[in-house]
Amino acid sequence: MEETLRILVVDDDEVDRMAVRRALMQAGVKMELSEAGNGHEALLALTNTTFNCVFLDYRLPDQDGLTLIHRIHASEIKVPLVVLTAQGDEQIAVELMKAGATDYLSKSRVSSETLAQVLRNAMRVYRAEMQANLALQQLKESHEQLIRKNQELERQRQQIQLQNFKLIEASRLKTQFLATMSHELRTPMNAIIGFSQILLRPKFGQLTPQQTDMVERILNNGKHLLMLLNEVLDFSKLEAGRLELKSELFDLTKVVNATVTEMQSLAEAKKIALQIQIILENPWVFNDSVRVRQILINLLSNAIKFTETGSIWVEVKELPENRIAIAVRDTGIGIAPKDFQHIFEAFRQVDQSLTRKYPGTGLGLAIVDSLVRMMRGIIFIESELGVGSMFKVELPRQILSQNGAGNIPALNVDGENIFFSAHNPHQSSPQSRRSSMRYPHLKL
Ligand code: ADP
Repeated sequence: MEETLRILVVDDDEVDRMAVRRALMQAGVKMELSEAGNGHEALLALTNTTFNCVFLDYRLPDQDGLTLIHRIHASEIKVPLVVLTAQGDEQIAVELMKAGATDYLSKSRVSSETLAQVLRNAMRVYRAEMQANLALQQLKESHEQLIRKNQELERQRQQIQLQNFKLIEASRLKTQFLATMSHELRTPMNAIIGFSQILLRPKFGQLTPQQTDMVERILNNGKHLLMLLNEVLDFSKLEAGRLELKSELFDLTKVVNATVTEMQSLAEAKKIALQIQIILENPWVFNDSVRVRQILINLLSNAIKFTETGSIWVEVKELPENRIAIAVRDTGIGIAPKDFQHIFEAFRQVDQSLTRKYPGTGLGLAIVDSLVRMMRGIIFIESELGVGSMFKVELPRQILSQNGAGNIPALNVDGENIFFSAHNPHQSSPQSRRSSMRYPHLKL
């Protein structure tokens, strides 16, 4: 043992103290030895000095060893304690160990070897105990820290939940406001449209050309406003999950042809060729014809709006697994891949500036998206800036008759395409940004 050990020998018998002292010296222990003749002196010494080990006689004049050990522990003094017992005190030794003694040794066995060994063991055991205590203490602290962190996390979770509730409520109020306002505004708008139409009829009196022109403008603007209001109303219904599909059996060829014919004049006004190709062996589908028409109108009106020259193609064909594809492609301004995902969000337009060239509410694709999801379909986009765009909707030939807005399928990415499907959560992928196509190589 290299270091100098501070050792306290507590014994009222001078001869016994000397025996311990001699044995330790013979064992070559480098030490500073202190001695105490009773429990009171021992406690005093232990309070004032830090010892490396205490040899303690069990039988002291003022108190027994067990009481002294209890007092030492009560004073929070940490030191290895070796109790020296008399012959036949083994039962007491067990009690002493339970009370916190590090070791015990019968006085009859005191020799330089035994003392040196007991001393070494006691110090080793004591160090191990101290380390274990320290580890336990650290464990307790980390446990408490964890509890505190957990409490903090729980508090944050509750806050987020509360904010979520508030956001959901705010969004619900916004949707309700949109629905109420668009509904309320439709009534006067219908009156404006109706009375303008009446005014234009000759039987209600001839208007001057200038008056006719003004009434026609009122009528056209009224119709346009009504269309916008209907869009807002549809969107709010879809958002609130209050729009239901009214499925029926209908001839898709007829609906597509009629819709394209309706939109023909808009394309002609911009001198854009509008072509249609329907390849259906079986034109019958079970779906909501009004909503399928609405999807086509939204895609077509966008194609016409965002195309300055060139052509627009509407293509319909059958797909495997009883599915139908309706595609609208144009040679318009195109969409940058980074905008693919955003354009399906409500009120989102690629050009969000007030001075933007193309009018619109930014709801058309959001409505298409929701409707296609309700029908358990998929939307594909392929587009290249300055070249053109293709929006393709794939729908099951027969939709489920009761589709809520809940359980809505979500966005998917498949290779070069971005699309929405019934299975995956709404997510984007870097791959979608590469999506583009060169015209006119549309493969349906
Ligand atoms: P709106 O047409 O009322 O602006 P939409 O939701 O229909 O709203 O479309 C969102 C945006 O997507 C448009 O503002 C436009 O930026 C872009 N977009 C949609 N269709 C096309 C298209 N065929 N060509 C180019 N951009 C398009």
